[in-house]
Order: sequence, then structure tokens, then C-alpha cells
Amino acid sequence: MLLKGVGASAGAAIAHIFYIKQLDLSVEKQEGSNPETETGRFEKAKEQAFTELDVLFEKTAVTDSAAAQVFDIHKLMLDDPDFCDGVEDALSSGLNAEYAVKTSAEALINFLGTLENEVMRARAADVRDISERLIRILKGLEENDDGPNEEVIVLAEDLLPSQTVRLDREKVAGFVTKRGSVTSHSVILAKTMGIPCIVGMGESFDELPKSGELAIDGKTGEVFVSPSDNERNDFLLRVEIFRQQKEDLEKYRNMTAVTPKGHTVKVCANIGGVADADAAKTFGADGVGLFRSEFLYLESPSFPSEEKQFEAYKAVLEKLSPKPVVIRTLDLGSDKQAPYFDIPEEENPALGYRAIRICLKEPQIFRTQLRALLRASIYGKLQVMFPMITHLGQVLEIKEIVGRIKGELDKEGVPYSKDIEFGIMVETPAAAVMSDEFAKVVDFFSIGTNDLTQYTMAADRMNSRIRDTFNPADPAVLRLIEMTAKTAHENGIWVGICGESAADTALTDFYMSIGIDELSVSPASIPAVKKAVLSSNS
Ligand code: PEP
Ligand code: MG
Repeated sequence: MLLKGVGASAGAAIAHIFYIKQLDLSVEKQEGSNPETETGRFEKAKEQAFTELDVLFEKTAVTDSAAAQVFDIHKLMLDDPDFCDGVEDALSSGLNAEYAVKTSAEALINFLGTLENEVMRARAADVRDISERLIRILKGLEENDDGPNEEVIVLAEDLLPSQTVRLDREKVAGFVTKRGSVTSHSVILAKTMGIPCIVGMGESFDELPKSGELAIDGKTGEVFVSPSDNERNDFLLRVEIFRQQKEDLEKYRNMTAVTPKGHTVKVCANIGGVADADAAKTFGADGVGLFRSEFLYLESPSFPSEEKQFEAYKAVLEKLSPKPVVIRTLDLGSDKQAPYFDIPEEENPALGYRAIRICLKEPQIFRTQLRALLRASIYGKLQVMFPMITHLGQVLEIKEIVGRIKGELDKEGVPYSKDIEFGIMVETPAAAVMSDEFAKVVDFFSIGTNDLTQYTMAADRMNSRIRDTFNPADPAVLRLIEMTAKTAHENGIWVGICGESAADTALTDFYMSIGIDELSVSPASIPAVKKAVLSSNS
């Protein structure tokens, strides 16, 4: 039998099914419950959830300290004020604890869902994860704890973050899920592991047996149930082709990306936090080309303190040292909203109060981050970059602020590196067109093709209906990139690309022909980009 889903991570596998059974977590609404009793039940469930998460953290940390952090984040979320306030409101109006948890979580998930941001969607999965944990505890059900003991294809209605990280990665040959989108946790994990993943099976998922053998192709989305001998042979061939492709890429990980004409390019990693720094190293990154520092803010229940930020920056710099790390200052606003930071609703948020515009208007937020960055700079090679720059005055103001903070630290006797490079993101047409002016006052440019495409083509990067117009390879965008690279080099500074299209190997030749110095991409894309540079025509 052949069924089809959405191919989300390429690769082929044949293996036995490991079915992760969905527990019955349906919830009934009971009005007129005793608020005191139900609050007591909720508090007790929360306590047990904390204990479970502690155990899971310890267990996972032994083999994968980065993955274990999911459980730490879940512990934070159990105390999330938006979530807890919602539960309390429902409990005080006489609703049962299970229902209170469910409705409060749903409200938060819906809110996060409307933000249409990848980071936020991932957070919505975490909210669902903790609410299901609480409901299971409240219903007195046990957590399904047995993992696979042979190589398997994992089958599940959907995979929660906590389920994904608990799987023994050595034993997973692929994933098939009923629900889920291409940004699901299972997909992110599958891509990082380089194994096939099929999502969105929908109704056909119910036709799948829950044991026996499956053959899956994560590129085409095909799922063969109990494959015949012929299908088996065909699949073994596909498995071999994918294996060879993977093996072929493997050898590029630790190579230096140098074009046949001798231009060396740094292939760096885009990361969102300390946990990703390990993936960057594993995939052979020449450094970090973009650390999106706003993730620290998005994961936190309130503004992260100077100390908390310092620790995160220090950890990434130490992990990568002596390789360079570009940390981008806060890029909040638009589709990236932190619930505790009340930005009034705007008609055109992408054109509104965001990123550097916030930092220059709210000096306390900026100062805290800059102090943390400067203090962390002695632990590695730090490069700081500023997002959404549109005019020269902003850079001059930033330089003045940085100078003031350095003076403060000098007075306090706090050390910081004297070699920090300061650069800007070129992600607005204004910055690209005026790049000759900017190049005289900064140490580097990093071209953010996501926003540069959005603003050049007047096409919302989140709107799938106009995906054709949102084209980072449009000649208009490429001209701005070329202009930026030219002015950078004329002024003796380096220029990188850190938007998604840095990983588009169809553009590598063009990037090399204009002398781009750095390409920063998601860690798993590094080997393929290095290969493209090494075999480019320029
Ligand atoms: C970009 O705009 O290309 C970029 C890298 O920044 P972000 O995707 O975080 O807006
Ligand atoms: Mg951007």
C-alpha cells in the first residue's frame, strides 16, 4: 500500500514502526467546581510537572546537554504569567483544573499562532507540551516512557518537543506524523540529523498500521506499508543514493571554502541561542555569522537581565573561540513580539517600531544589552551588528552610546576587548543605496536578504500568497547586494550575507563573482554551501 504525506526532510529509510501512542487527553468542562480544591489540584500537578521535568533534564543532559534545555524552558513556562493568570481566572470562575489549563493554554497558543513567526510557532508547541503534561497528571495517566531499542521509523499523530528530544537519535531512521507543518519540531530535528521526515499525513495516517515495516521517502512524501520485494529493492537503492549524498556532503564539513580562483569564504552559522552553538561546531562552521539575540528575549518571561545576557554571550563566544561570533542586537518588533514588552498595535508592523528603532528610543534596554556584550567580549572574538539601519545618524548615535558605555566600564574597572568589530545589517534598500556612506563608519556589512527582499520587492516575507514576488534572486535584490559588496570592498571592509538565500546554492556563483566574504546559514546547510563555494565558477 502506498500513502502520501508532505515530504519535509529529504532521505529514504526502511525500518520497523515505532508508534508513539496518543494518550487520551480530552477534557470535559465542569462548571461550579470548588475554586479552592481545583487550585490545590492545579498546584499539585504543577509541582509534579516540575519534578518530572527535572528528571527528564538530568536524563537527557547525560547524552545531549543542548537538547536537555527544552525541559528547562518548559519549567520556565510553567510559571509564565500569561499562562498562570489565564488558569487562575478560569479556576476562580468555578471551572475544573483540567479545563482551566486547556483553555488558558489554547488562548496562548492561538495568540502565538497569529504572530506567524517561526520562533513563536515553536513556542506554541512548547505551551501545548506543558499543558498536555499538566492535563495528563491531572487525569492520573502515566507518561509513555519506553524508547525504541532498534532502528525505527517513528510514527505519531504529532510530536511534542519533549517527545522528540527524548528519542535516542541513534535509533531513529525517520519520522512520519499525521499533523505538523514543515516547521514542526520533528522536521527541525530530522533536518539537523539528516534523516527523512514526512508530515501532514492527515486522514491517511489512520490507514497506517501501528507496527510492521515501512519504507519512506522524505523528498517525495511517499510511505510504503509492508513493502513488496520489488518496492524493497527500489527503496534500498534510494536509501543508498541518499546515503551517498550525505556522505559526499560529510567531507565538506571541515573543509575551507575556497573558490577555484582562490577566494576564501567563511561559511558560518546562524544561531538563536547557546544550544545552537554546538550544532554550529558539529557542522563545521567557520564562526557564527548571526546570533539572533532576540531569542533570549522571546524565551524569557521578562526582559533578560544584563547578567543573564552576559552568561549567554560568554557561553557562545567561549564555545566558538577563536572563531568569530557576530551577535546582532535586539531585533524585536514586527513579527517578533515579547508578551511583556507592550508595543502598541500598529497598522504596518514591518514598517514600524522595531529593532534599532526601539533600542535608540529606549536607552535602558539598549544599554543593558551593550554592557552585557562588551563584558562578554573578552571570552572570544566578538563582532556586534545592528539591525534595520536606515540612515547614517543612527550609526553615529550608536557609536556615541557605545563610547559612553566603554567609558563607564573603564571607570568601574570592568575589562572588555579592544578589538570588537562593529557592523550593520544591510537589510533595507536605504542602507544598500547609501552603503558607500555607511562603509566609512563601520567595520563590516552583513546583508539580511530576508528583509532586503521584503522591502525591495514590497512583498511581506510571511505572506505565502505573494511568494513569487518575494524573490531573493530578483535582479532588483541582486543589484542592491552587488552595490553593497562593491562599496564595502572599495572602503576596505568585509561583507557577508546572513539571510536565508545565503544557503541558496543556485546563487553561490553570483555571490562569489561579487566577492562576498562570508555566507551565514543554518548549521545543517553548512556542508552543502561549502561544497557549492568549492565548485563555483568564480
Ligand atoms: C534578514 O532579514 O535577512 C535577517 C537575517 O534577519 P531576520 O530574518 O532575523 O529578520
Ligand atoms: Mg531582518
